[in-house]
Amino acid sequence: MILDERLLAYIDSLDAGEEAFLEELRDDAQKRDVPIIRRQAQKFLAVVLQMKRPQHILEIGTAIGYSSLFMASRLPESDITTIELDPERAAEAKEHILSAGRQEQISVLTGDSAQLLPRLAEEGRQYDFIFLDAAKGQYIRLLPLLKDMLVPGGVLVTDNVLQDGTIIDARCLIERRDRTIYERVRDYNQTVMHDPDLTSCLLAVGDGMTVSVKKDG
Ligand code: SAH
Ligand code: MG
Repeated sequence: MILDERLLAYIDSLDAGEEAFLEELRDDAQKRDVPIIRRQAQKFLAVVLQMKRPQHILEIGTAIGYSSLFMASRLPESDITTIELDPERAAEAKEHILSAGRQEQISVLTGDSAQLLPRLAEEGRQYDFIFLDAAKGQYIRLLPLLKDMLVPGGVLVTDNVLQDGTIIDARCLIERRDRTIYERVRDYNQTVMHDPDLTSCLLAVGDGMTVSVKKDG
């Protein structure tokens, strides 16, 4: 928890909610412990999307399609490519996308983003908005490729960069199996905030998010 619990509850109480089908999908995901974007992070994304109005969106980490369906409903004119490693989740996302009638707008690619992204880059795909929300340990390795695929002025939003506030915990408090991931996320935050090609900020919203805009030229 990054913010005080009461403050979080207060902010959440201001949330007007989403369309019924998205709320149902959120409830269902929560019941089954499928990770989806937190409400406040989602609101933040909604504002960025409305300001930026991207045409071509790339998402890394589909889960069951919640965030891509949310982005699609906010920006019906956009096209969204989303990548998911887990074939079961990808299949479920496709079902949800189909039942929402968004199959023309959202394409789900099943596989490891570390393998699929270089292919998209080779095809010359360019995006004006990227939502990075998958394997946190991979973020740092993916960054150069994502930067290349972003048009000047394009926006990269990365989720879960504060690990619920535990990112600053002492090494001994972090479970052994998580240590490498934590180091890599810290490395990512440092790199993205110092990258001369990007203007970035780190927000303590949701689970922590960085927002980076690619500079011109
Ligand atoms: N964006 C979704 C939540 C994604 S959760 C939403 O807000 O609705 C993160 C997802 O990333 C998980 O479903 C996980 O299976 C997937 N993932 C993990 N490693 C990945 C990788 N290397 N490539 C693609 N997806 C990956
Ligand atoms: Mg996330």
